Amino acid sequence: MPVTDMETIVRAAEVIVSARHMVALTGAGISQESDVPTFRGNDGLWRQYDPMELATPEAFKRDPGLVWEWYSWRQGLIANCRPNPAHTTLARWARDGLLKALITQNVDGLHERAGSEDVIEVHGNLWRVRCTECDYRAHLSAPASGVPECPECGALLRPDVVWFGEALDAAVLARVWQELHLADACIVIGTSAVVYPAAQFPATVKSQGGAVIEVNVEETPLTPIADVHVRGRAGEVLPAIDRAIAALRGQ
Ligand code: NAD
Ligand code: ZN
Repeated sequence: MPVTDMETIVRAAEVIVSARHMVALTGAGISQESDVPTFRGNDGLWRQYDPMELATPEAFKRDPGLVWEWYSWRQGLIANCRPNPAHTTLARWARDGLLKALITQNVDGLHERAGSEDVIEVHGNLWRVRCTECDYRAHLSAPASGVPECPECGALLRPDVVWFGEALDAAVLARVWQELHLADACIVIGTSAVVYPAAQFPATVKSQGGAVIEVNVEETPLTPIADVHVRGRAGEVLPAIDRAIAALRGQ
């Protein structure tokens, strides 16, 4: 996949350096070059189960062992994946003050592993667990084995991710809207921009006069409102934009 033309890369770099408050929104596409499986890839073939039928509160109630087996398997796969240059570039932009907030739909934890601090994870994180009864939360450092129980109250622990049919965490969403309302630029990377409510995030920035940069291997429903559409793989495009930023700054 050839990276888009240099002129487009430079336009993206110009938007980024002139922004006062840029936020990033990332989706499954940013982790594609890290070989994180998607629901449509191998992940969807796990023992002939449909992920839509495993990632639900009903499935967990019916058979927590089965749901945990699936999550442990996914944790094992992701443990072998590494952050790619798109993840590391975003982490550096945050350290350099170019990026003010990082919002992700991904649950793979690769942004943190790339060095991003304070990632706003709207769908939770595959490595976190929470109690089904009390407020207990914890972070796993290795794939779970069996069905973990709460050390505080003995109830079942569940993955701290948002399942189909569940509402997003209100506090997390409040932070998202706070950042979006401050934003004068939004870079959207590797998301098909159709899943509600994330699909609305870039449109919000746009409606208050901000600029939207889209990085994707194909056009999406967002493309018509994007000020800059950079066609290409995130792991190649972000370092290219980064080099253009350095050139603009005379570094
Ligand atoms: P999606 O699968 O709907 O869309 C992925 C987008 O990324 C597509 O538009 C595709 O064209 C683009 N893309 C693919 N490879 C790319 C690359 N190398 N560079 C740039 N773009 C690329 O993903 P979504 O919009 O994030 O929605 C899927 C939902 O499934 C999310 O809500 C997410 O929570 C969940 N999910 C998460 C993970 C993960 O944590 N890594 C993986 C699969 C699914
Ligand atoms: Zn508990």
